Amino acid sequence: MKTHSVTLIPGDGIGPEVTHAACRIIDASGARIVWETAHAGASVFLKGVASGVPKETMDSIGRTRLALKGPLETPVGFGEKSANVTLRKLFETFGNIRPIREFPGVRTPFSGRGIDLVVVRENVEDLYAGIEHMQTAGVAQCLKLISRKGCEKIVDLAFQVARSEGRSSIHCATKANIMKLTEGLLKRTFEERAPQFPGIRAQHIVVDNCAHQLVKKPEQFEVIVTTNMNGDILSDLTSALVGGLGFAPSANIGHEVAIFEAVHGSAPKYAGKDVANPTAMILSGVMLLRHLGEMEAAARIEAAVVVTLAEGKTVTRDVVGDARAAGTRAFTDAVIANLGRSLPEWRARPHKPLIIPAPAASSVPVTPKDRRTVGLDVFVESDKTPDVLGGLLTQLGSASGFTLKMISNRGTQVYPVRGASTDCVDHWRCRFLYGAPNGDLPLDKVHGLLGSLQSAGLRWMHLEKLQEFDGKVGFTKAQGED
Ligand code: NAP
Repeated sequence: MKTHSVTLIPGDGIGPEVTHAACRIIDASGARIVWETAHAGASVFLKGVASGVPKETMDSIGRTRLALKGPLETPVGFGEKSANVTLRKLFETFGNIRPIREFPGVRTPFSGRGIDLVVVRENVEDLYAGIEHMQTAGVAQCLKLISRKGCEKIVDLAFQVARSEGRSSIHCATKANIMKLTEGLLKRTFEERAPQFPGIRAQHIVVDNCAHQLVKKPEQFEVIVTTNMNGDILSDLTSALVGGLGFAPSANIGHEVAIFEAVHGSAPKYAGKDVANPTAMILSGVMLLRHLGEMEAAARIEAAVVVTLAEGKTVTRDVVGDARAAGTRAFTDAVIANLGRSLPEWRARPHKPLIIPAPAASSVPVTPKDRRTVGLDVFVESDKTPDVLGGLLTQLGSASGFTLKMISNRGTQVYPVRGASTDCVDHWRCRFLYGAPNGDLPLDKVHGLLGSLQSAGLRWMHLEKLQEFDGKVGFTKAQGED
């Protein structure tokens, strides 16, 4: 049997307990892993490393190309960036595979429905690019960036996951009905790529209905491919269908590196108490073994976990409540003792090696034959009323060669007025059109417009070109705009 080197990041909170459990079981399964321990997260932030991921850890993952990672704490709403997101982005692990399956012995309101699905979440783009700005003292912005290349990679990976697991259907869950350009790009890419995977039924579903259907009839889903934020939320929901976050493993897949971790966080209230359920981390280890081609060891561990849960004698508090609960260590001992056993009625899913699609060189860059800039959205801070601001901007715009098309506030057109009763703030998007027949806007015209706004005492903080690509409009209308 081959020996593999894997970086082990114990993580924060319950992380050291659950990663220790997973390593003990993997070592007992017969797989030969050399663990290279490295650190990230809270202890690293405390040492003043702003990314939460020190160079030694980056070097270790760069060497082994594989990591089993405990959860890492991220301060909520303040402080440094998430070390998790940093790791996913720096190693370009673009796909996050999150399977869940109903386990015998784990009673939930959905028991007996045969839930067995996998969420494939885009892992590096979307709002998680973390590009945020305070545009005024009272208005914050987060840029949602979605690329065609990113969509192609995640869609192809999701179809390959379906193939490797013998699945016959795949849903693409987006909010393309509202975010037609960003979420719509994933939908369009999915519909374009689907014919390349005959035999797998492909359908789109609006993400809010997907959440609804997951609770109403979860057994209808096999694979769900979705954007980063949607996938984060949907996969916590799907974990709850089978008993909670203690049962949800995941793999962060890239072309160079793969990082395996439980979906759950550091659950600080349970840290060091020997109560956390290590199943999610153990099953993340099973995914790691399958990735390494160690199918037999993976199947042995999965079968032992299933037997332990089905017997229900030694299981954690999230399964049986406090009165009858066993600790993390005792559950781990029970799984090790059950290695080699299996439950006759449990049918292991056949796993063929996952083919990670190579990025299509032809899709980069996406070059249009024709591109035209037809105007500008200028974001302006002002305490004027819409009418006063509209009158002033109409004059300033026409003196600079632009026509003021409309002003919106928090996404709704407020000038010219359309009878909306918008509760305005001091942050206005002002849409100026320029009658350029071809090509880009002349820079002196842009300078002229911005200069005139500034001279009139208006503070501008953000500019967005209004572009058309091959005759297709590359921007959306405000609510209420003609
Ligand atoms: P969390 O740590 O996942 O915990 C939420 C709840 O899930 C817990 O209170 C517990 O529910 C249950 N739970 C999670 N793991 C469990 C396990 N192994 N066994 C049994 N129950 C488990 O989420 P959070 O409290 O929102 O986040 C805590 C910290 O973790 C934050 O700093 C967050 O940023 C970080 N985080 C990290 C990752 C990651 O590293 N990938 C992911 C998510 C969050 P009950 O209260 O019902 O018992």
